Amino acid sequence: MRRRPPADRVIPDGQPRGVAVLGSTGSIGTTALRVLARQHTSFRVDALTAYENAPLLEDQARRFLPAYIGLVRDGTAYPASWHVGPDCLISAATLASVDIVINAVVGAAGLDATLAALRAGKRVALANKETLVTAGELVAAAARAGGGEIVPVDSEHSAILQCLGRRPASDIQRLILTASGGPFRDWTREQLERATIADALCHPTWRMGRKITVDSATLANKALEVIEAHYLFGVPYDRIEVVVHPQSVVHSFVEFIDGSVLAQVGVPSMELPVLYALTHPERLADDGVTRFDPVAASPLTFERVRVDDFPALALGMAAGRAGGAAPAIFNAANEQAVALFLEGRMSFAGIAQAIESALDALSGLPSGDRSALLSADASARAHVRDGTGRPTPVGSAPGEGGGAAC
Ligand code: MG
Repeated sequence: MRRRPPADRVIPDGQPRGVAVLGSTGSIGTTALRVLARQHTSFRVDALTAYENAPLLEDQARRFLPAYIGLVRDGTAYPASWHVGPDCLISAATLASVDIVINAVVGAAGLDATLAALRAGKRVALANKETLVTAGELVAAAARAGGGEIVPVDSEHSAILQCLGRRPASDIQRLILTASGGPFRDWTREQLERATIADALCHPTWRMGRKITVDSATLANKALEVIEAHYLFGVPYDRIEVVVHPQSVVHSFVEFIDGSVLAQVGVPSMELPVLYALTHPERLADDGVTRFDPVAASPLTFERVRVDDFPALALGMAAGRAGGAAPAIFNAANEQAVALFLEGRMSFAGIAQAIESALDALSGLPSGDRSALLSADASARAHVRDGTGRPTPVGSAPGEGGGAAC
C-alpha cells in the first residue's frame, strides 16, 4: 500500500510503542521477540497470540508480560486469563494500546486480523503475505478507510522499501526480486519427481517455518511475493522480475526511471526486516545484528529462473495478472497442496499440478468482497483435496522442524 508520510509514528519521543505479535511462537514470531527484547526501550509487547503452542506462549508471556494473551486453538491446558479461539487475533490486533501489529500468522487465516488492524488505524508489520495475495484490494480499502498502513516484513519487500526511501513509487522503473532457488535449484526434472519431504525442508540459506520452506522449494513463495510486491508498491506485473541468487545476500533490486539500480544487502536473517518494519522510515541502532562482510559473502552470483522446471512461479504470476479470484485460488490451492505434501499424501511435483488444476477449474469465481474471496479460497482447498483420492506417497514420512531436517 502507499507509505504514510513520515510524521506521526516515528520512533521514540519518550514513550515506547505498543506492539502485538500474532503468531508469536512461529519462526517470524520468535525472531520478532528477539528483536523486541533488544529494543525494549522503544517498544512494549502488549499482546501475544499463538496457534497452539501453549507451553512456548506461556514462557514468552512470563518474559514479556503482555496485557493480552491469545491462543487460537483450544484443546490444551492454559491459564484462565488467556483468550482462546480464533477471535483472539482480531482482539489482539485492535487493542487500544497497540500501535503496531506484527502479523506472523501462517496462511489466509491472517486476513481478518490484518483488515481489523488497518481499519483501527494501526501499522501492520506484515509477514503474512498470503492475506495480501488473497485480498489485496480489500486490504488496500481497509487501510484507506481506517488510516492504517502496511509495512512489509518479507525480506525482499523490506529491501525494496529501504531502496525507495522517501521517493514516490512513480520513480520505480522495475523491481527485481531475488530468489535463493531453494534446495532444488540444481536438481533435474527427474530428480524433482522424486523429491521427499526432508529434501524440500532442507533450505540452503534460510531457516524458516515448514510451509514457507516448501513454498521456497516450489518457487510458489516467489509467486506470492511478486503479487505482494504488486499490491505494496503499485508496480504492474510486467515490470516485476525474479532472478535466482543462491547466496541470499542481495535481498532485491529497484531500478529507477533514470536507469539507476539500488539493492539492499545483508546476511540472511529476518531480524533486520522485522526491526525495519517497526521503525520505517527511521532506523534504530541494533547491536544484535551480524555485521556484513563482503569478502566472506563473496562470490555473489545471479541466474535465470528455470521457469519450466518450477511451474508454480509462472502459475502464480499468471494468477496475479488475471486478478479477480485467481490469486486467492492460487494461494489456497497451494496451502492445501503443501499440507497434503507434508502429510506424505502428495508428491512434490503434484503441488504445482494441483494449483494448475484449481486455477483451470475455478478462476471465474466471483471475487467482489470478503465472503466471495473466502468462498473461492474454500472451493480451491476442496478442489485440491478431492483431486487427491489417489494418494501418491513419496519417499519419506512427514518430518518435523523446517531446516532442522537438513
Ligand atoms: Mg521473502
